[in-house]
Amino acid sequence: MSKRDYYEVLGVDRNASEGDLKKAYRRMAMKYHPDRNPDSDDAEEKFKELKEAYEVLGDTQKRAAYDQFGHAGVDPSMGGGHGAGFGGVGDAFDEFFGDIFGGGRGRGGPQVYRGSDLAYRMELTLEEAISGITREIRIPAMEICGKCSGTGAKPGTTPATCNTCAGAGKVRMQQGFFSVAQACPTCHGSGKEIKNPCAACHGAGKIKKEKTLSVKIPGGVDTGDRIRLSGEGEPGENGGPSGDLFVEVSVREHAIFKRDGDDLYCEIPVSMVTATLGGEVDVPCLGNSQCVKLKIPAESQTGKLFRLRGKGVKSVRSSGTGDLLCRMIVETPIKLSSKQKELLQEFGESLDEKRERHSPHHTSWLDKVKGFFEDLAE
Ligand SMILES: [Zn+2]
Ligand SMILES: [Zn+2]
Repeated sequence: MSKRDYYEVLGVDRNASEGDLKKAYRRMAMKYHPDRNPDSDDAEEKFKELKEAYEVLGDTQKRAAYDQFGHAGVDPSMGGGHGAGFGGVGDAFDEFFGDIFGGGRGRGGPQVYRGSDLAYRMELTLEEAISGITREIRIPAMEICGKCSGTGAKPGTTPATCNTCAGAGKVRMQQGFFSVAQACPTCHGSGKEIKNPCAACHGAGKIKKEKTLSVKIPGGVDTGDRIRLSGEGEPGENGGPSGDLFVEVSVREHAIFKRDGDDLYCEIPVSMVTATLGGEVDVPCLGNSQCVKLKIPAESQTGKLFRLRGKGVKSVRSSGTGDLLCRMIVETPIKLSSKQKELLQEFGESLDEKRERHSPHHTSWLDKVKGFFEDLAE
């Protein structure tokens, strides 16, 4: 069998540039690709010929050899040492077009789709998030129709082959330069057409139901954490696997505690007297953690931050536990009786005698004020 001239195969003249060759190959490859010519007997041969021609002319060295010696210069069967070997139809085409045709090459048979993932937002109190909880949720679900056993066809009838796609489940759509395989719009990829739909499911083969799931939320979760329930999403199409259900945690704000990762933070009101003389205050408990007593040393100032190690949130990701940070806020007494006011007045006067001695911040504050005015005077 005599070989056709490679330039002729690609439909370019002998001094075509590299770009011209590439363009010509693209154009011809689109035209003769076997997937696009399922009924043609010689499309595959033509495509192979095209691929061979381009593999030679697209390579500068091989092209020079071909120009000088013709087929004998490059033909692997002639033993010229140039034999790179010509593979199947697929590879050169893939190099060019990537996987635009991906998945579409397996001809015939219904398109199988994985079901969609579902998201479910679950609101938790901080206590629930810290200690963990098992909660039942109701989610929409599709169930195989019992009337038609999922075929979608009226009992006693069978679905016919889809006319649009001839049972292939997919059609090729022209999108600009490319032809793209898409699910058949008539049968949605099943390859079947239902002439007499089942009355119960209207031909869908599935019925919308709600299902109850018991979701176990581990202790330590925080807003934005997602718990994946594998296979609890929407069912797949045409026998494809179900999607997943993602339970997304959202933790409500707490009246007392703020959370920062695995640390908890709160403000503890402390009386003026306790702050001065020292003492103990109760820190409220949360979740599983034990109530703690916070020791306030004498002469503690307002705003002092106490760190209680290991009294925060037990991490959901590691074995560690966060800390509890308590900020002490000294309270100004209110609603004093005249007697109490009198005592306080007397007490205040006793402090005034040696002001600096009793007020740790006062002296340094006065220094700062002084410094400030000196700066201005300069
Ligand atoms: Zn179809
Ligand atoms: Zn049905």
